[in-house]
Amino acid sequence: MAVIGIMSAMHEELAAVLSAMPDEQRLQVAGRDFWVGHWQGHSVVAVLSRIGKVAAATTATVLLERFGVDTLVFTGVAGGLGSGVRVGDVVVADGLVQHDMDASPLFPRHEVPLYGRARFEADAKLAVQLAQASEQVLADAALHLGPSTLAEFQLNTPRVHRGLILSGDRFVSTSAESHALRQALPEALAVEMEGAAVAQVCHDYGVPFAAVRTISDRADDTAHTDFQRFIREVASSYSLAIVSQWLRQRALD
Ligand code: SAH
Repeated sequence: MAVIGIMSAMHEELAAVLSAMPDEQRLQVAGRDFWVGHWQGHSVVAVLSRIGKVAAATTATVLLERFGVDTLVFTGVAGGLGSGVRVGDVVVADGLVQHDMDASPLFPRHEVPLYGRARFEADAKLAVQLAQASEQVLADAALHLGPSTLAEFQLNTPRVHRGLILSGDRFVSTSAESHALRQALPEALAVEMEGAAVAQVCHDYGVPFAAVRTISDRADDTAHTDFQRFIREVASSYSLAIVSQWLRQRALD
């Protein structure tokens, strides 16, 4: 039976996932708590990714090596970079790039040395499935969040985007930085701190990977505003609903 790994970037998201797993058991490896159990009839291992590329890569490697995970889905929040990518939207990765990788002039900027590539692809089928699940959840956003939260965070007609996500060991929180990222990688939709590293690990192991991120900020001078409350009240509900919808659909396929 397939074993699905679910990596959550935030404590609040993991708590929401665990509340949906009736039988989870905790196993500690490398100082991390891995939660092994079932969700909607699937074998699932849920874990907090930890923040940053190295921490997330270690977590992913343990999931694949120790827990035999053969499908890995990452959920979290990200800063919006693309012009129509607003707070409360969801971005599903088609591909991921480490925006802070730069071994030039030995290798082209952003290329990961010895891989011959900068971009790691998300699994196309998983990305389609997660985008569909996200569309369904956002169409019913009021159901998952409640009208007062929608109004408070001004989440009008949230949208699902698919495309390039950037990762790097930096919380991007100035307009100057996000402008520089847009200049360097114009097709990027969002920026976060883990996804491309996990995509690289999954590439090494030949395991399908997908990432879905709720936009928590615009990676600009106001990026820190209400970040924690947004995660608690919006992003955790979205992650839970999207993964739950995806698993339900997968059980029927
Ligand atoms: N205050 C948080 C830490 C947040 S670090 C805590 O105590 O847990 C930022 C997290 O959100 C990372 O997981 C990163 O992937 C994501 N993220 C959201 N917006 C981001 C941005 N503008 N730049 C980089 N990462 C961002």
